[in-house]
Amino acid sequence: MGIDIRYAWAGLALLAGACVQAPPPAPTPSPVFAGTVCRTATASLHFDFDGASASTCAVTGERDFTLLVTPEHAPPINPSPWYAFRYEAQGDAPVTVTLRYLGGSHRYAPKWRSAGETRELTAEVSDKGAKAVIALPPGSGIVSAQEVVTPADAATDLARWSAATGAPVFTLGQSYDGRAIEAIRFGRRDAPRLVILLGRQHPPEVSGAIAMEAFVDALAERAGGFGDVQFLVVPMLNPDGTARGHWRANRGAIDLNRDWGAFTQPETRAVKAWLDGLPSGVRPVLMLDFHSTRNNLFYVQGDEASPAQQRFLAAWLGGQEQVFAGYPFTIEPRNANPGSGTAKNWFFETYAIPAYTYEVADDADRSATRAAARALAQSLLPALDALED
Ligand SMILES: [Zn+2]
Repeated sequence: MGIDIRYAWAGLALLAGACVQAPPPAPTPSPVFAGTVCRTATASLHFDFDGASASTCAVTGERDFTLLVTPEHAPPINPSPWYAFRYEAQGDAPVTVTLRYLGGSHRYAPKWRSAGETRELTAEVSDKGAKAVIALPPGSGIVSAQEVVTPADAATDLARWSAATGAPVFTLGQSYDGRAIEAIRFGRRDAPRLVILLGRQHPPEVSGAIAMEAFVDALAERAGGFGDVQFLVVPMLNPDGTARGHWRANRGAIDLNRDWGAFTQPETRAVKAWLDGLPSGVRPVLMLDFHSTRNNLFYVQGDEASPAQQRFLAAWLGGQEQVFAGYPFTIEPRNANPGSGTAKNWFFETYAIPAYTYEVADDADRSATRAAARALAQSLLPALDALED
């Protein structure tokens, strides 16, 4: 009788373990929620892509699944219950997914995407918004609270703006998990007036990201240059939270738009450090921070705005509230609440410049959002002259 080969191998492995130092574990890439899967014989749900939510999934029938939609930390401010999953189903029998919300209620109509086709699905909402049932179209697809717009999409936008302006994309810093915070700076390097555009501090706020993309497209395509104005554009300030399907925070469990001033997080610090390195001949003159909420609106400075800042507001947004078809908006003056930690208040207090939050409704018509953003970008440069005394 020979030696059982299995024991021989086990013995070799033991020997190797006894006398060979195990190598240190390789650094693991920043975690994204891969591996979670809910599967039956004929259907499955997956959470294996950037932007997928970290929802717990349960099989509740052969073609019936339940997702627990939960925030990354509690209690979330302004709950933005993000969900996103991929599914595969065989046959034409209906597949349903029940969303159960913890720490929030149904807010976003489900968006469906498959093979380049997109549409909105109907959700049957009950239990005062704590429950929503979605019937999935046959086949496969991605269902998400808003369109899935990831750090890779922001990189694509940056590459396009770089091609249009000739300015290089550069890395402003690293996120908590080590993702690059990418930016572009266009216009003449010695142009004295700097406009800062920030996006995606809050991962689910995709309608704001759609406006920002169109806004910067319009600027980047502008013929004739930017005169004595230059731009810093940071479209994806919270890449970790976006990749991981967070409702609000970065990977450090902090709401980045409450961290301006304290600068406890690498994402906000990266912007601050860059600004601190500006030569004395370049000064910020305007900051716009793109977000989403229930309605289209601009949070602006109130009676604390200087006369020049009020002239700028009147020149840029004044009288435009009902001008854009499908994109009415309001102007909401809010005086700085000292120490609130928002980008809006920090830029206003630090640089004495207009600093606005550009809020797009969750369900704003996407093409109207883009058209309005393009028009507002085109009217921005002339309006900036109102700031000069
Ligand atoms: Zn926001």
